[in-house]
Amino acid sequence: MPGLYVHIPFCHKACHYCNFHFSTNLKTIHRTLGAIRKEAELQAEKFQDVSFTTLYFGGGTPSLLDLSDLSELFSVLRNLYVIYSVESTLEANPEDISSEKLEGWLEMGIDRLSIGIQTFNDAQLKIFNRNHTAAQARQCIDLAKSAGFSHFNLDLIFGFPGQTLKQWDDDLQKMLEIGPEHISVYALTREEGTAYDQLYKKGILDEVNESLVSDMFYLARERLTHAGYLHYEVSNYALPGHEARHNSGYWSGDLYLGLGPSAHSYAHDKRWWNFSNNALYEKTLFLNKKWYEEEILTNKNRFNEIIITGIRTSKGISIEKCKKFLDDEEFSDWYKKVEDLVKKGIFNLKADHLIINPEYLFISDTFALQLLI
Ligand code: SF4
Repeated sequence: MPGLYVHIPFCHKACHYCNFHFSTNLKTIHRTLGAIRKEAELQAEKFQDVSFTTLYFGGGTPSLLDLSDLSELFSVLRNLYVIYSVESTLEANPEDISSEKLEGWLEMGIDRLSIGIQTFNDAQLKIFNRNHTAAQARQCIDLAKSAGFSHFNLDLIFGFPGQTLKQWDDDLQKMLEIGPEHISVYALTREEGTAYDQLYKKGILDEVNESLVSDMFYLARERLTHAGYLHYEVSNYALPGHEARHNSGYWSGDLYLGLGPSAHSYAHDKRWWNFSNNALYEKTLFLNKKWYEEEILTNKNRFNEIIITGIRTSKGISIEKCKKFLDDEEFSDWYKKVEDLVKKGIFNLKADHLIINPEYLFISDTFALQLLI
């Protein structure tokens, strides 16, 4: 399922934990949108034979765009690319959601909203510089439902400094009362260069200990699966039949084209990533220079990708797919490691798939390292 992604690199303000690429200088939006349109034009020829089945506006905060700007971008994409979208998602923050915008998004063909709720605890929202309250989050969902949206992903974060297991359980209960078809649940991480990192280094904010974070991860799994959600990827839960198609494409190794600063793409045995700097991205595009870096994927790269993405999913790693990228000797050496990990109870083998035992899902990255070549 080929996917088309557009990165809108702007936010009203910086959340203290965030290390995505964005700018809070909203005066430059039109220049950046112009560059994204130019990139879309330049890439179109290479993707003439591709029918994109998912469309995803991410960021940053795409919901802050004026309706006219988003609609223009939408038409440019529809004119340049073949899009038979079965899922068109827009990432939105609660403070941007109004009846007018909801109506406009529906008219454009957006049929799924991914809303950053993060927590229903106002104190934690404030400490991390989120631009909305818990009440706003609840109201915007009601508003979106009454406007006609029925497909939602809601994001939650756990592991805030000082957060207790009980507070996390409250967040999960509140989320279940809303009952969206899809829930993403992320552990807060302290990334180098973020405000959180600086506040931690100054001793102002703490870090939650690893074992409590692990308990929170498994509490989410218990509560959400008990309520009927499938834990189909380490950070993602869906009611049956409502798995995110766009993201599932990334995890299954499907082709995707990413437009906009910092966007990544994968197609034609190549991976490329646009400059994560709005000014540099715009300048290179307008000067007809290269606006991205790229790498040609070797068999080893492709094999390792299958491991890294597959290990995080409930479908697991396809042994057959792995085999395609190794010679007989490499495969036999690698398979010995697989057998050993299965014997230790870390993985299960089901038909052609190697699936991590849920008990080890929280630390799946550690086991991925053992399976890479
Ligand atoms: S709104 Fe999203 S992208 Fe923007 S700073 Fe906050 S977490 Fe990062």
